Amino acid sequence: MERLPNLIGLDLAELTAILEAQGFERFRATQIWSWLYVRGAQDFAEMTSLSKLARAKLADHFTLERPTITTHQKSEDGTQKWLLKMPDGQEVESVHIPEEDRGALCVSSQVGCTLTCRFCHTGTQRLVRNLSAAEIVGQVLIARDALKEWALPDASATPRLLTNIVLMGMGEPLYNYDNVAKALRIIMHSDGIAIGKRRITLSTSGVVPMIERCGSELDVNLAISLHAVTDELRDQIVPLNRKYPIAELLKACRTYPGVSNTRRITFEYIMLKGVNDSPADARQLVRLLRGIPAKINLIPFNPWPGAAFDCPDWSVIENFGDIVNAAGYASPIRTPRGRDIMAACGQLKSASLKLSATERAEIDRLIAEKDQAQGLEISPISSRKNTGSGD
Ligand code: SAH
Ligand code: SF4
Repeated sequence: MERLPNLIGLDLAELTAILEAQGFERFRATQIWSWLYVRGAQDFAEMTSLSKLARAKLADHFTLERPTITTHQKSEDGTQKWLLKMPDGQEVESVHIPEEDRGALCVSSQVGCTLTCRFCHTGTQRLVRNLSAAEIVGQVLIARDALKEWALPDASATPRLLTNIVLMGMGEPLYNYDNVAKALRIIMHSDGIAIGKRRITLSTSGVVPMIERCGSELDVNLAISLHAVTDELRDQIVPLNRKYPIAELLKACRTYPGVSNTRRITFEYIMLKGVNDSPADARQLVRLLRGIPAKINLIPFNPWPGAAFDCPDWSVIENFGDIVNAAGYASPIRTPRGRDIMAACGQLKSASLKLSATERAEIDRLIAEKDQAQGLEISPISSRKNTGSGD
């Protein structure tokens, strides 16, 4: 049977056009938009400002398809993780991280990731495809359902649980720019979910040619997964660096539209024991970022089965942070959240995995294959250590 078009994930202009084509008056589009993105309607039957006949006609021609929840876990620190199934059976994860008076939803942009950052669990996933705008928006809808945050009377009276969006889940958002941009426009729309651009942060591993466009078209906050201060090391741990080296990446940051001292770029720096965590690295980081309005987010490495890195001792991370701080940069250490449910940064992967030696070899082969497909020259990963855990 032919699948009916989904109204979720269309922007307002597209929604208007598709409804008009079925003979609905123009103003119906704004009404339906509001049912979808202010009230969180999951079924046309809920749309009681429309006649029964109109609702039946909508149901005959369209769907309101969302991802379905495969599993839902809650961490002891309040972090929640959803494993969501898309219509084609592929799965992605989204994570809600509550803070005292606000909360961020960490959204995925792709199933898996074509890139293969060596410390990231998602990079070891075989299947990769872009998520559609509907699938990206769908993650926000599901979180709002779970947090019961639809149509609250007064936003200022009750602190909201979902105030911010971070594109830091699975996938490289700038490799799926069009769908991400469309989803963000829907999420930002002031007559709907209305999460503003200042509350949205897009994290990229450094797709330099797309950075300017992201700033000029979407004007969201930018986070850069820097993680190393020399090309030699970054080539190894963030292989995309072989295409877009540090100097080019930082050049794009210097000219990021809207960047200023009140709107800084976040540089994410994962702390890997004995790899990038020395005081000399910290000093070089400060030198590199000179002149860029920046804050530095130190991310303790979050382990996953088969990972070839360790997290440094806390004192090492603090010492690194102190050096960066003394140079005038805010350098918060990102508290690992939801580690007990594998919801922390870089732990996301939509199939659980215990690695045997053969599987480890298979993953290495897969990574080499992915790097090659990206046109990234293959070289041995000299920084990869033997963890002594039988791999
Ligand atoms: N692909 C994008 C966004 C998703 S990753 C990007 O790379 O920026 C979100 C952040 O988590 C990135 O900074 C990433 O480098 C970091 N990360 C990946 N694996 C990690 C791990 N095992 N521990 C801690 N952070 C990790
Ligand atoms: Fe992809 Fe980001 Fe993971 Fe790198 S860190 S493999 S870019 S998801």
